[in-house]
Amino acid sequence: MTISLNVLSEDTQQSQSPPAAPPIARQQPGRLIDSHGRTIHDLRMSVTDRCNFRCVYCMDPNFRYMPKSELLDLDEYIAVARAGFSLGITKLRLTGGEPTLYPQLDDLIGTFGRMGFDDLAMTTNGSLVDYSRARQWKQLGLDRLTFSLDSVDPQRMREMTRAQTSLDSIVRAIEAAHRAGLGPIKVNAVVIRDVNDVEVADLADFARDHDVNMRYIEFMPLDSSRKWNRSHVVSADEILSRISARHELTPIDGGDPHSTSMNFRFADGAAGSIGVIAPVSRPFCSACSRLRITADGKVRPCLFSHDEWDIRTVLRSGGDDEALAAFIADAVWTKQAGHGINSSEFIQPQRTMSAIGG
Ligand code: SAM
Ligand code: SF4
Repeated sequence: MTISLNVLSEDTQQSQSPPAAPPIARQQPGRLIDSHGRTIHDLRMSVTDRCNFRCVYCMDPNFRYMPKSELLDLDEYIAVARAGFSLGITKLRLTGGEPTLYPQLDDLIGTFGRMGFDDLAMTTNGSLVDYSRARQWKQLGLDRLTFSLDSVDPQRMREMTRAQTSLDSIVRAIEAAHRAGLGPIKVNAVVIRDVNDVEVADLADFARDHDVNMRYIEFMPLDSSRKWNRSHVVSADEILSRISARHELTPIDGGDPHSTSMNFRFADGAAGSIGVIAPVSRPFCSACSRLRITADGKVRPCLFSHDEWDIRTVLRSGGDDEALAAFIADAVWTKQAGHGINSSEFIQPQRTMSAIGG
């Protein structure tokens, strides 16, 4: 089998100089609204840009990390989350890089658990998850875990992650998360033509066998090798027809209107479910409720933003909670209407997925 994306170019990670300050937002207290009228209540926080995998669609083997001194410290992450909470953020997701590599992860989860978010979740490649860690995170207040698993073929999985972690160990991690009560468990699979698209229906079998919500994600232009092109994208329609050829699906109605995914259960009543996330073929920007903060303290209103707002400077110049909240509110006001992937003028952002926080 050929994994065509692992022919890699040089490191493309470059630092962006942020615009001086975002414009002043017109906000309602305790609520984050952008200039297009969308309410933002979902914060994705990247707690590290480091990773022990090198997934072909995400991170080059020679990817250069940011210097540690540029990354936020524990107190800084906590201050940002507190400011977000005061502004009506109800969902907080820890991500990265690989968040389970963050040395003070338990302190972070414990503090966020006590803050009272409605939903505290974490996305992980699963390689460093076992029952004892999962149970500890649950006790500290983590609600849910999302795993990334793009292949149920052991060899292809190794080729896609460019890591030695075995498929069996990820399956054990998923089972451990179930036992620890960190469900419903989601599993993200990025589908790439001629890489793993032959496995679409097999991944649905995995959802049934392991009672997980399998989320098929269209490949996005956020890879550090900059190899993305439209021909790699397997559309939502094609994904659904490949699954439906093996299993009849029933749409799940009445879900979260801000959900990024189209959701289905199996018509025969089997365990597990399906989600399809289609930012390329069916953009969902008008319902977006998300905001991201990178590990080096940049507020990014959109995955595809070219502008990012430097909250680390506010933190390191003694900004109090009020100043942080005002800064976040102003940054949110600049959120663009849509990601523009399908425009002829689309330009891939400098930052890649692992440096943003997916
Ligand atoms: N390391 C963790 C993991 O892999 O779950 C968390 C960070 S990772 C950047 C978050 C999610 O982004 C993963 O589910 C991954 O599959 C997804 N992702 C990374 N690069 C992507 C790309 N180019 N297109 C679509 N999804 C991508
Ligand atoms: Fe690491 Fe996650 Fe990117 Fe894979 S997708 S390289 S596990 S950050």
